[in-house]
Amino acid sequence: MSLLSVENLDVFYGDFRAVRGAHLELAAGQTIAIIGANGAGKSTLLNAIVGLSGRKSGSIRFDGRDIGREPTDRIARAGITMVPEGRRLFGSLTVEDNLLVGLAAERPGPWTLEAVYALFPRLGELSKMTAGSLSGGQQQMVSIGRALMTNPRVLLCDEISLGLAPKIIGDIYRCFETITASGVSVVLIEQNVVQACAAADYVYCMLEGHMSLEGRPEDLSQAQITAAYFGTG
Ligand code: ATP
Repeated sequence: MSLLSVENLDVFYGDFRAVRGAHLELAAGQTIAIIGANGAGKSTLLNAIVGLSGRKSGSIRFDGRDIGREPTDRIARAGITMVPEGRRLFGSLTVEDNLLVGLAAERPGPWTLEAVYALFPRLGELSKMTAGSLSGGQQQMVSIGRALMTNPRVLLCDEISLGLAPKIIGDIYRCFETITASGVSVVLIEQNVVQACAAADYVYCMLEGHMSLEGRPEDLSQAQITAAYFGTG
């Protein structure tokens, strides 16, 4: 059974329908990726799942319960946490204080400060530095760590590789093995198709607000993905 299930979702900005009949299924313990070009509707879809979008219709179910009309704080308390695009850290607070923000969710679980520092040892060394003084990759680790501190059941990651060097992206993605082994299910939003396909069990491609292709990465050809990504099929 799916842990998170989206069916026939439409999301509007005014009259503009940015998401059109989108769907996805996330099973417990699974990692899925949503790929697509700029403006395809990926962030709008994620925001809709956590109750941060405008008008929407369709079905969003989490753990068997309809969360489509629930407020963001209840969705967060139920265990869906976002790693937002652009990281959104408190730049003048220390790394540690940024991580501690995640405790506000009050969900007990395996993810403590010590566990986050074990996952990202560099953050332990930098714990008293202000977040604003860190490199982009280190800031991304803080953003992921803060989300883990909520002890999520589902982690929604919006473009975590954006603007980072390939080596840093590799370092960050390696940590997802530990994250999923701890029982967290993951939704990755990525423009980086290679990275997404390497990390995910199942991939959806979004184009102009809907799913233009889906499948297990090993079953999708490069030509299929390119056509679905750019709408040239
Ligand atoms: P990106 O990688 O740039 O974040 P995306 O796939 O996440 O792209 P969205 O940001 O979800 O795409 O945007 C989907 C569509 O909705 C685009 O056409 C975009 O211009 C439009 N859009 C996004 N935010 C707003 C907004 N606040 N008001 C009006 N239109 C918006």
